[in-house]
Amino acid sequence: LQDLEIQNLTKTFDAFTAVDNVSFSVPAGSFFSILGPSGCGKTTIMRMVAGFIDPTSGDIRIKGRSVLDVPPNKRPVNMVFQHLALFPMMNIADNIGYGLRRKGIAQDEITRKVGEVLERIGLPGIGQRKVNELSGGQKQRVAIARCMVLEPDVLLLDEPLGALDLKLREHMKIELKSLQAEFDTTFVYITHDQSEALVMSDQIAVMNNGRFEQVGTGQDLYYRPETAFVAGFVGDSNRWRGKVTRAEGGQLQITTEAGLTMTGSDQGRGLSVGAAADIYVRPEAIRVGRSADELSQFENTMRGTVSSILFNGAASRLIVRAENGQEIEATLPQSGEFSGISRGDALHLGWSGEQANA
Ligand code: ADP
Ligand code: MG
Repeated sequence: LQDLEIQNLTKTFDAFTAVDNVSFSVPAGSFFSILGPSGCGKTTIMRMVAGFIDPTSGDIRIKGRSVLDVPPNKRPVNMVFQHLALFPMMNIADNIGYGLRRKGIAQDEITRKVGEVLERIGLPGIGQRKVNELSGGQKQRVAIARCMVLEPDVLLLDEPLGALDLKLREHMKIELKSLQAEFDTTFVYITHDQSEALVMSDQIAVMNNGRFEQVGTGQDLYYRPETAFVAGFVGDSNRWRGKVTRAEGGQLQITTEAGLTMTGSDQGRGLSVGAAADIYVRPEAIRVGRSADELSQFENTMRGTVSSILFNGAASRLIVRAENGQEIEATLPQSGEFSGISRGDALHLGWSGEQANA
């Protein structure tokens, strides 16, 4: 069952196309993110789904029914903004009950529903408090509760963690994901932050210049990027430019401009010999060894010297300068053998063709 279906949605402002023929569907009860840089058209999609602006063309269907002729306040969607827009003069219960009051629901019913939703967000009994008495994370949960109490089919969240500091943001990612599971509601979440999207989402659409580049799970985007933009935007990657020198059964051999030969997977694009192809390898896919023998299982190997060590706990990185002068980023091994590693050390690098994406 699809809760939300977007079909060939386009929005132009004068001659400028902000959203360019975008289609996607979101299964009921799932967490769907749209990830892309600032200005790529994310908020414009949300505003069309919420009904604040009309599409230039295309359709928006919720639970199988087009909502284009439904006014914003009648659509079964709700939106949480970056600036949470709680009413500072009202207490928490009145903030959460606001939408219900506007719908003309009786006060005792409102009181019951507000109490219930406060319970579900793990903040029972705070109804009489003022907004400014809550922490940033509590305000965030109240903003979500204020939407969930209206029981929308789809909750739209527009960079809702943007105003929080880093530590709280880390915590709220986990919190949002568990609230979504708890309410079993469809979330459409937009962000320019890849780590937010990767942590929370069932499916992620990567957006650039008004278009979707790729839709998939975090793992799909991370390990099997289909475009250069996705490979560059989601996670860090080493990248080599080259040409296909052999193509067989989905496996490619690519020879880079620097004369390196490596193998990688074609990912169903059917590239043939002579085609230009970049190859991407994640730093953590690159194994480091003191000798070539340790890396004999890998199709791709190189020698180099350590040019820098970037210590960052478990995510520490090595920058290794290969014999051809190219710099390669690899994850610093955690094993004791490498604890004394220093600049200038000679190393061997290896990675498998499966871990390389052409
Ligand atoms: P994002 O949310 O991804 O940062 P937006 O959807 O807000 O991007 O904007 C996408 C593009 O559309 C931007 O270049 C923005 O300037 C433009 N845009 C958005 N709204 C309007 C508008 N009402 N009139 C003209 N241009 C707009
Ligand atoms: Mg925006």
